[in-house]
Amino acid sequence: METGAEKKKRAKRIMTILQKLYPKAQTALHFNSPLEILIATILSAQCTDKRVNQVTPSLFQRFPNVQAYATAELEEIEELIKTTGFFRNKAKNIRSCCLQLIENHGGEVPQSLAELIALPGVGRKTANVVLGEAFDIPGITVDTHVGRLSRRLGFSIHLDPVKVEKDLMAIIPESNWVSFNHWLIFHGRAICHSRKPDCDNCAITKHCPKIITSKLAKPKKRNNQPKIKQNQAK
Ligand code: SF4
Repeated sequence: METGAEKKKRAKRIMTILQKLYPKAQTALHFNSPLEILIATILSAQCTDKRVNQVTPSLFQRFPNVQAYATAELEEIEELIKTTGFFRNKAKNIRSCCLQLIENHGGEVPQSLAELIALPGVGRKTANVVLGEAFDIPGITVDTHVGRLSRRLGFSIHLDPVKVEKDLMAIIPESNWVSFNHWLIFHGRAICHSRKPDCDNCAITKHCPKIITSKLAKPKKRNNQPKIKQNQAK
C-alpha cells in the first residue's frame, strides 16, 4: 500500500506535468472584484461558467455594488440571471447575501471561510473559490472534476467533498492548492472525462492508478435468469 510520503512524491510528479500542460489554468469566470466573483460563483451552481459569463456583464453593470443588489426588486435580478437555472433561488440568495454583507461586514466580502459560509447561497465550495480568486487565500475547492480525479488518482476514497478536500490538503503543499484545483478541473474537462477517461492519451497515465476507471470498465453483471421461487428451488 502506498505510504503518505510516496503519495506526496507522486502528487509532485503529477503537478509538474499538469503545470506544463495547463500553464494558464485559472477560473473561467469573469470578474473584477471580490463581490463579482462571489456573485458569479453563486450563479455557477448547476450551470456552466460559459453561461455565467454571458449574464454577468449586464448584471454587474446594473448592480455595481452590494447596495444595488440589496435594494433591488427580486424580479429584476431574476430576469437578468434567468438562463443560469434555479434563478429564483439564486436571485433570493444574492439579495439576502448582499443585505448581510451590509449588515454584518460593512458592505465588504469577508475573507474567512467561516464568515463566507454563513452567507446565504454560499457553501464551502463557493467560499473557497472566493478566498482563492479574490484574496489569494489558499483553499481546495472540490467540484465534480476535482472529486472525480482525486479518486481516480488514488488521492481520496471519499465521495464527500469535505473529506476529499481534507485528503488533498494532506498531500498537496498549501502553496499549490489553488493551482492544483485548476489543473484538475482543466484535466477533467480535457482528458479525464467522467464517462470515458482518455487514459491512452493522458500525460499522467503512468502516475495514475486509475482507481475508479478500472471499476467503470467492468461490464455490469446482468442476471437474466428467471427468478426461481424459494419453494420451487427446494
Ligand atoms: S490516466 Fe486515466 S484515470 Fe488517470 S488521470 Fe489520466 S485519464 Fe484520468
